[in-house]
Amino acid sequence: LPIYSGELRLKTAGDGDTIDLTEGVQRIVRSSEAQHGTVSVFVEGSTAAITTMEFESGGVADLRATLDHLVPVTGDYAHNRLNHDTNSHAHIRAAIVGPSEAIPLKDGTLRLGIWQQIVLVDFDDSPRERTVVVTVTS
Ligand code: ZN
Repeated sequence: LPIYSGELRLKTAGDGDTIDLTEGVQRIVRSSEAQHGTVSVFVEGSTAAITTMEFESGGVADLRATLDHLVPVTGDYAHNRLNHDTNSHAHIRAAIVGPSEAIPLKDGTLRLGIWQQIVLVDFDDSPRERTVVVTVTS
């Protein structure tokens, strides 16, 4: 199988910062000239995640609020205690949401819904630079 890969490098604000990657992923897919296959989008690091959602301010706020509620920033976390760290909540949120998505490619187009964007969510508690690896397998 021919494999083409590209990278997106982004600066995030951390703390649930959510960035729409759809255009960047589409740019890499166009460069690949692939027509049919699967596009994998993966973020390096254990405190950030990739998912799809309707990218608008209400949806972004709701996702952040829900994860804040499910996995509070403060708590008796072993990771923080044992490592003198402060971001256990970020590791847990990232593990729940997951580091990657695989999107079908048909006729050179990502098969996303009209209201479905590919997003990076950075849960870490400080600004970070992130590398997202996009792999097109066709
Ligand atoms: Zn940590």
